Amino acid sequence: MNTTSITSIIEVSGLSRKFDSKLALNNITLKVPRGRVFGLVGGNGAGKTTLIKHILGLLKAETGSVRVFGFDPVADPVKVLGRIGYLSENRDLPAWMRVDELLRYTQAFYPKWDMAFAEELRHQFGLDPSAKIKNLSRGENAKAGLLIALAYRPELLLLDEPSSGLDPVVRRDILEAILRTVADEGRTAFFSSHLLDEVERVADDVAMMFAGQVVLSGTLDDIKENHHRLIFRFDAPQSITPQVPGALSIAGSGNEWTVICNGSRQAAIAGVARAGGRVVADDTPSLDEIFVARAGTKHI
Ligand code: ATP
Repeated sequence: MNTTSITSIIEVSGLSRKFDSKLALNNITLKVPRGRVFGLVGGNGAGKTTLIKHILGLLKAETGSVRVFGFDPVADPVKVLGRIGYLSENRDLPAWMRVDELLRYTQAFYPKWDMAFAEELRHQFGLDPSAKIKNLSRGENAKAGLLIALAYRPELLLLDEPSSGLDPVVRRDILEAILRTVADEGRTAFFSSHLLDEVERVADDVAMMFAGQVVLSGTLDDIKENHHRLIFRFDAPQSITPQVPGALSIAGSGNEWTVICNGSRQAAIAGVARAGGRVVADDTPSLDEIFVARAGTKHI
């Protein structure tokens, strides 16, 4: 199979997964295009790590299918795993090693390991080569994990909650720059996060998970273009919630209401007018507001 012609690096189709009676993944379908930064967002327990484990072939699809570089990662791990740089949620680094030993040890697994780049990252991250892994802070541990996922310039960088433990400066100045660089070099970055503002700053494509389901996916540009926030007023207080076409959520009371809606802005504005209201503000909601409107919860 000529895998360089494949445009979707990851293809998940109808994937479901149960743990006992708990449906952790419910009919997930998504495609991750080559050369993009793909952000998977969702709150605690949404199913992000379970999905990532299927992509890595650590869990076998019970229902549906998973293809990475066109291969089943469970049946063909060798063709898949050598091309992925992975940062697990728990980091899983050997506690007894020193940072320099970790670099040399990991290098042995990857013919394409770039020691000059690894050293550059080590400097950038401020990691002491003689420090023991077990003595690293949570943030330093996250940096060490990120470093070894990056240093052989994998075709697919797969990061489970890379921000956890990193301070805002490192997140903004280093992590986001790394993700962009990976995509600019034609490689693919897939990361999970519960930080919607971060995803909004860096991702080209987004999938939002809630309770095991993908509640929304698409390019960030399309998602933002297709969602609107309208604030509208009535001359007289309204005792019942006004109806607006495409509304995902409506909040307010009395004279003033705010709607987050999906679809045609014109249709929503016309709907407000039909209900007797007038639009006083009309803009694009943040990804956070879209998620809350879609999932019906703030608990992300
Ligand atoms: P978080 O952001 O908290 O890491 P997540 O989105 O990564 O959450 P998952 O770890 O994928 O969520 O978990 C999804 C659901 O499946 C949760 O309810 C979790 O308790 C359950 N789950 C995950 N792994 C197992 C397992 N091995 N056995 C039983 N239940 C599991």
